[in-house]
Amino acid sequence: MKKITCIHPQWLIPVEPHATVLTQHALVMTDDLISGLMPSEQAYQQYQNAEHIVLAGHALLPGFVNLHAHSAMCLLRGLADDLALMDWLNQHIWPAEKLHVSDEFVFDGSVQAMAEMIRGGTTTVNDMYFYHQAVARAGIHTGMRTVVGCSILEFPTGYANDADDYIHKAIEAYQRFAGQNGVDFRLAPHAPYTVADETFKKIVALSEKHNIGIHCHIHETLDEVAESVKQHGVRPLQRLHQLGLLSAKLIAAHVVHATDEEIALLQKTGVHVAHNPASNLKLASGFARIHAMQNAGINVGIGTDGSASNNKLDLLADVRMAALLSKAESGNPTALNAAQALEMATLSGARALGMEQSIGSLVEGKQADIIAIDLSALETQPIYDPISQIIYAAGREQVSHVWVAGRCLMNNRQLTNLDLNELEEKARWWQARIAR
Ligand SMILES: [Zn+2]
Repeated sequence: MKKITCIHPQWLIPVEPHATVLTQHALVMTDDLISGLMPSEQAYQQYQNAEHIVLAGHALLPGFVNLHAHSAMCLLRGLADDLALMDWLNQHIWPAEKLHVSDEFVFDGSVQAMAEMIRGGTTTVNDMYFYHQAVARAGIHTGMRTVVGCSILEFPTGYANDADDYIHKAIEAYQRFAGQNGVDFRLAPHAPYTVADETFKKIVALSEKHNIGIHCHIHETLDEVAESVKQHGVRPLQRLHQLGLLSAKLIAAHVVHATDEEIALLQKTGVHVAHNPASNLKLASGFARIHAMQNAGINVGIGTDGSASNNKLDLLADVRMAALLSKAESGNPTALNAAQALEMATLSGARALGMEQSIGSLVEGKQADIIAIDLSALETQPIYDPISQIIYAAGREQVSHVWVAGRCLMNNRQLTNLDLNELEEKARWWQARIAR
C-alpha cells in the first residue's frame, strides 16, 4: 500500500520554475516521490484518506545540497583557528588526523555533522574524506543523501599507504555501498599539490571505466597557483586540463583564483564549481569571482567545507554570505539575487552531482527531499517576499521539518531517528580524547 502525504504550507517554493512562489497549494508525496503540486482544496478532495500536514506560516522548499564538505572534521572544530591554510594543515590538522582519525572517528564525526546539517535543512552532502566506508555507513545511519568523496593523495595516513592504496580502497567502498539508500560515490584527488600526474591519469581512467564523477580542491590559494608554476611550469587548472581532468564530471571546490581565460576554460569543459564562501574568508584564501563565473554560464553550487575551517555546517548562513560577497566582489548590488542564491543552494548543487533529474527542486516525479522553514518568528516578519526572507533574514534554527526520499528526518525541530543527547555525549567523549 502506497503512503500518501499532502503538505499544505503557506508558501510553496519549488525553485523550478525559477523564482516561483505558490500560495494555497499543496505538495503531494507518494512514498519516496513527489507525486504532484496542486491547489490545497483539490488535494483535500482528491486525497481524503491521506495524511494532511498543515504548515501555516511556513515555506516549503527543496532541501539544500552541501556541495563540498569534510563531515567527520566536525570533531576537530575549534581545535586550530586563525591560521593560514598551509600552516593550519601542516602544523595542526594533518598531525591531529594522523593521531586520531580512524573508522570510528569518521563514523561518529560524520553522524554528528549530518545531524547538524539535517537540523539546518541540508538533505544532500557531497563529502570528501578518508575511511570511505565509514562515511557511507554514516549516511545510511542518518538517512542523509550522501555522496562519498574518496580522498586520494600521495602520502600515507592511518587509512592508506600511497595513492594506489587509496584508489583500491575507494573502489572497494564503491562496489560495496554504491546505490544503497541513496549513497553515491566520487573519486576525490585531494588537490593538485598533493597528487602526482600519474595518479591523476589513473583517476581519469577509473572515472571513465566506472562512470564515477571526480571532486577535487582547485585554485584555493595564491600559493597553490605559484607553487604549481614553479614545479610544473603551468597553473594548476592548465595542468589538470592537460591531464584530461576537466569535464562535466568534475566538481572543482573553491576556484578562488581564476583568470578570464580560466573561467572560459571551465565553461568550455563543463566543470562545476563548489563555492565555499565562509571557508575562503576564514582562511583568507580570497574572493571567488562567482558573478563572472555565472555570467560565463558555469554551474556554481555552495559548500560549507569542513567545520574545522568554517566552523558551521550551515548552508543557509553560507548562501546568504555568498549573495553578499558576490555583490561586494563584483561591485554590483544586483549580482546573485535571492532567487538565484536559493537555486545555487539547491538545484545547482544537484546539477553538479548529475542528480538534477532526481533532486534539487519540487517537481513531480523527483525524490521527496523537502524542507519547511517557519517564517512566523519576529526575526522574519513582516513578509513581502518569502524567498528574500529565507536568504537574507532566516536562520537555520527556523528549519522545522526535513524529509529525505519521503522519510521524515526532522519533525517540528525533533530528529526522528537520532538521539541528540547521545550525539552530544559522543562529541564530549572525542573532545576529552583529542584534547589529551
Ligand atoms: Zn575542502
